[in-house]
Order: sequence, then C-alpha cells, then structure tokens
Amino acid sequence: MEPNCIFCKIIAGEIPSDKVYEDGDMLAFRDINPQAKVHVLVVPKSHFATLAEMDAAQAELVKKCLQKVPAIAESLGLAGGYRLIVNQGADAGQTVHHLHIHILGGQNLGEKLV
Ligand code: AMP
Repeated sequence: MEPNCIFCKIIAGEIPSDKVYEDGDMLAFRDINPQAKVHVLVVPKSHFATLAEMDAAQAELVKKCLQKVPAIAESLGLAGGYRLIVNQGADAGQTVHHLHIHILGGQNLGEKLV
C-alpha cells in the first residue's frame, strides 16, 4: 500500500467506493466521474503506476484482472460490447498513478479514439 495513493486507500476501505467485484487480487468499482453510461475501474491490489514499472508478480495480477474482465462486463450488462482503456503517463491523461483498467460501455461508444 502506498500511503498517498487514492486507489490504495479505496482497496484498504479507507475511502468508500461503489464496488462491483472484489477478490484477493483485484477490486472493481464504478468511476466517480463516469465517461459512459457504464464506467468501471478494475484495479490490481498491488501498487504500481504503469506497465513499465510492473514486476513479474504484478504482471500476473494484471493477467488475472484481464481474465476477469468478461465476467465483470457480463455482470454489468455489457453484452453488446465494451471498451478497455489503460492510460499510461501524462500524455495519456493518467491522473491516478496506480495501474487500472477502465471498462466503458452501456451505450454505443462510436468508432473514434480507436
Ligand atoms: P486515469 O485518468 O486513467 O488515471 O483515471 C483515473 C480515474 O479515476 C478517473 O476516471 C477518475 O474519475 C477516477 N477516480 C478518481 N477518484 C476516484 C474515486 N474516489 N472513486 C472512483 N473513481 C475515482
């Protein structure tokens, strides 16, 4: 746990979240400022900012997060599809420096921005 990290505090239960899934490896909760009708963040329970900083154990956690995404998406009613975004660094607009996967859906997202 990183004391100044908001996602570490959410994982620790020090800050409330609208949780949609949790296990020993990850926490998924609704984004406080949703950019789509459904906007959930999947956060590994190990603090590291970017893929470049990730060690082998953390890579296993990310793998588990990605493997769980379809089940989380199904539980959110995203049968029509969804988009994943993992912002990396300043140019991508990353504001929370604890790696997280955005799940966006619940509407037609269009074909722009990949
Ligand atoms: P990023 O810009 O990729 O770093 O995304 C960080 C995301 O975290 C943004 O979409 C924020 O709206 C979201 N966020 C920040 N604080 C909270 C919070 N306390 N609960 C839920 N989502 C949050």
